[in-house]
Amino acid sequence: MITKNKETTKMIVCLSDFHIPFHDEAAVFAAIRWINDCKPKAIYILGDLLDAYSLSRFEKDPRERSIAEEAEIAKDILAYIKRACKKVTLIDGNHEERILRYTSKYAPELMGIVKTIPELLDLDKLGIKHVPYGQVHVLNELVLKHGTRIATGAGQSVRKEMGIEGASVCMGHSHRLAVVYHSNRNHTIVGVENGHLSDQGKQKYLKASDGVADWQQGFSSWDKNSQGWYPILHRIYKGKVIS
Ligand SMILES: [Zn+2]
Repeated sequence: MITKNKETTKMIVCLSDFHIPFHDEAAVFAAIRWINDCKPKAIYILGDLLDAYSLSRFEKDPRERSIAEEAEIAKDILAYIKRACKKVTLIDGNHEERILRYTSKYAPELMGIVKTIPELLDLDKLGIKHVPYGQVHVLNELVLKHGTRIATGAGQSVRKEMGIEGASVCMGHSHRLAVVYHSNRNHTIVGVENGHLSDQGKQKYLKASDGVADWQQGFSSWDKNSQGWYPILHRIYKGKVIS
């Protein structure tokens, strides 16, 4: 299912993959300061704002924070983002979907009673739009999504998403930074992998690979002219936006 928005856009910013409570606070606030300075027209959060760690299928430490605590941190961060830009949309990622999946698997009787993501994060009160997991937001032919396809190496995951969509795509999910183009006789489309805002050191499942991952912190901004969409990647290094 697709939600459409025909409005012409000046500049939008995409943020993704915070993985609260494993977010990198310095990176998150570097991105928010950048938004404050550049005043984009709209912000899109492309999923995995929450980690939902306690519902992970992987090995977990019961002393880690609860979903309720994750939600409190997320609401604070969303309020800062909302102060920096009036128009904010949250598109769910697979980590938000963990909550729904867990309830339907282990407590289906509680479906409809357990809080949904908009309820958990007070999105109505904050004035933030919501796109549920499995849906995408299309803005002037640019597909904004968390994404489901992962391939090795920056740019390879979004190539798959562009192949499926047949359109320009900005995706989260891979935690890598990349811009790739694809042209045929008729048109050129562009794809972006949007980086991440998490703290690799805190992500437990990376311990198996000695904490090493082919990930890059950052985010993207997009503008549109008569030639179509053009993105700029903003890499974050040690709490600073360096590009
Ligand atoms: Zn993620």
